[in-house]
Amino acid sequence: MNIVQHIRRHIYKRHFNVHTNSNSTLKNKRHINRYVNHYFQLFVFVGYTLIPFATKADAPIKPKPHWFESFKQQASNTALYNFLYALPKGGDLHHHLGGSGFSHWWYTLATDEKTNGGYRYYTKVFIKQCHGYGNNEFGRNPQLLLFKTIQHSHYAALNDCEKSEYRDLVTLSDEQKSAWMNSIRLDKPFEGRAEFFEKHWSRLGDLNRNPIIMAELLVKNMQAFAKEGLRYIEAQTNAKGVVKSDGSQYSPDEVVDIFRQRLAQEDAIATGVTARLQYALLRFLPNAEQELEWIYRFVDKHRDIYVGINMVGREDNDKGYPLRFLSTLRKLRQRIPNIPLAIHAGEVDEPNFHVRDTLLLGANRIGHGVNLIDDPATMLLMRNERYLVEINLVSNLLLEYVDEYHQHPFPEYLRTGIPVALSTDDRGMWDSNMTDEYFVAVKEFNLSWQELTGLAENSLKHGFVDEQTKRALLANYHSRIKVFEQTFLDQGAKSFPQTPSRYGKFICRQYALCQPPKN
Ligand SMILES: [Zn+2]
Repeated sequence: MNIVQHIRRHIYKRHFNVHTNSNSTLKNKRHINRYVNHYFQLFVFVGYTLIPFATKADAPIKPKPHWFESFKQQASNTALYNFLYALPKGGDLHHHLGGSGFSHWWYTLATDEKTNGGYRYYTKVFIKQCHGYGNNEFGRNPQLLLFKTIQHSHYAALNDCEKSEYRDLVTLSDEQKSAWMNSIRLDKPFEGRAEFFEKHWSRLGDLNRNPIIMAELLVKNMQAFAKEGLRYIEAQTNAKGVVKSDGSQYSPDEVVDIFRQRLAQEDAIATGVTARLQYALLRFLPNAEQELEWIYRFVDKHRDIYVGINMVGREDNDKGYPLRFLSTLRKLRQRIPNIPLAIHAGEVDEPNFHVRDTLLLGANRIGHGVNLIDDPATMLLMRNERYLVEINLVSNLLLEYVDEYHQHPFPEYLRTGIPVALSTDDRGMWDSNMTDEYFVAVKEFNLSWQELTGLAENSLKHGFVDEQTKRALLANYHSRIKVFEQTFLDQGAKSFPQTPSRYGKFICRQYALCQPPKN
């Protein structure tokens, strides 16, 4: 019996005290039937009229979906990207200053002697086998590496054969210039980890050792990150082995002063971005322990600008395993007040205990942590809000630590309470930016508004900057995000303070976002 039949039968029974199959006369039955139908219609009408009131009063109110959920569902890729570009963000806690320079920035700086401190650069565009056969291609002077860039003092010391392999960067043909630009970014499908670790850095050569260019890069980063809504960066850059345009050495203290002076200039201050530095130890070198001792003392001396120490270099080179540095750090900690550590760990393919061992070294933050997912005991330990994993989604895909985003452990960390923040690593070499990281996170992992804003908040909370500045950065972020949310709800995309002027090659290749629409 369906519900309608049930109600009809109930009316018959209750009001006429008859059963539908009782022995009443035909006339009586028709009369009763008409009456019941009328009664039934009235019942249905009154019921339908009253139901909404009854629901409001008795049933729990279903919460409206958050506006960001509806926006995500409806927005095109372009609209979502513009939204994420304009979105206030916190900081970038993990990037290598040399790797964060876009090719066009490098070219502009390298060819402008007025800005770059009077340095002149040459790059290798021909191979003439000047060293004959059997050269050490794995040493400091590979013969077969094209687009290695050197400064004038080094060029002047070459023999005639070698000189003929190089061209002044200013005089490159269009084809050579384009190849030079591509030689320091992962632009081809077959380029990955080996190209990045073994070629890019060697090619940058002397450019990466010019402190004036590095300080310019820092300010260019601050300007670009400011447009994307960031207000804090910690850039990894070093101060040793840095050469003047005449080939003589800068002292590390002089290099720090160059950074300090550049950061004090008006255009740097105008960005509103607070910049601090980390010193990076190349962990697999034979003398890495002595180097760490020197770095620790150096950072201790320059705490106004250097706020932490990192350890870098490919982790599949076992000579840089984390516990190698435990006794050195223990010795240093006996004499020197604590220096925060953010250390690359778990940026490997195989499971191991590098993340656990790195926490044992005293690390406050873990760079990458891709294989932390294979170490459940350490995952449990990291759910206590003290240690943050710096997530680099673009880097991990391009360097083949994941083949597809569904393999990435980021959502598992995020949603099991391990503090995470997004960072850009070597975005110049990926041709990407922080918005790309956010875009990947939202597209691939369906972030909620709370998750999205939590990432930005973490990137400030876990910064190594002094507590007072950190509090101010967090307060500033909270007020910016509140205003952004309200003006977006009131005015939509018209309220965006900035839209991207270009899309990088990563987002173009991966999500077909290639040409920003003209405003
Ligand atoms: Zn890194």
